[in-house]
Amino acid sequence: MTEPDHPDSLIAALQSRNWADYFAARQMLVALGGEAAEPLSRLAADEAHPLRAIALELLTYIEQETTLRFAGRLAQLLCPRCLTRFDAHSVNLPWGVSFTYYSCRACRQSREFLEGVKRVVAVLDTVWPEQQLRQKSSLRVNWLTRPGLFDFDRVEIIHAADQDAERFAIQVGNDTDPYRKPRYSQMTCMIGPDCQLSENTLRILEHTFGVITHAPHL
Ligand SMILES: [Zn+2]
Repeated sequence: MTEPDHPDSLIAALQSRNWADYFAARQMLVALGGEAAEPLSRLAADEAHPLRAIALELLTYIEQETTLRFAGRLAQLLCPRCLTRFDAHSVNLPWGVSFTYYSCRACRQSREFLEGVKRVVAVLDTVWPEQQLRQKSSLRVNWLTRPGLFDFDRVEIIHAADQDAERFAIQVGNDTDPYRKPRYSQMTCMIGPDCQLSENTLRILEHTFGVITHAPHL
């Protein structure tokens, strides 16, 4: 059973003879934004599809709406699900028609976002039980409680077992994401005074990140 606000259910409702259902489905597809863009672009690309004209129209609205809301501030928006930045996505249809919409780079949803996040810090800290902490324009994310990578601008290894720090560095080294990959060599990785890392792990970290700093004891 598909959810009522799933793009496929809404697209099915576009064929409803009930005006209210049809109108609500249109509104909701535009409100869905990024998540609706891909299924709508499949309809728009199919010349024989009865919903093609509506799909083209809704893609225009999604383009307008997401451009207005997000285009000028991509570097400050973060998808709360993926912790990934918003970005432009292109839909290229046959016969040269194209659309651009803005949404999460990874999952493409555009309904939920964290605003005003200028800096994301990946933290490795066994003493810190939380997963995330927002401090004004910074977001600190505990990598130890959240396996997998996300978009971050700085690394702080405060308290971490050597194997965890090594596992983190290897995961970063293997990251193929085209947005993140070139940024690591410019990034600072701070190592806390209480963190004892092996020479091997330090070497991997030095190889992965641009600058390694050792925080002094306070
Ligand atoms: Zn996402």
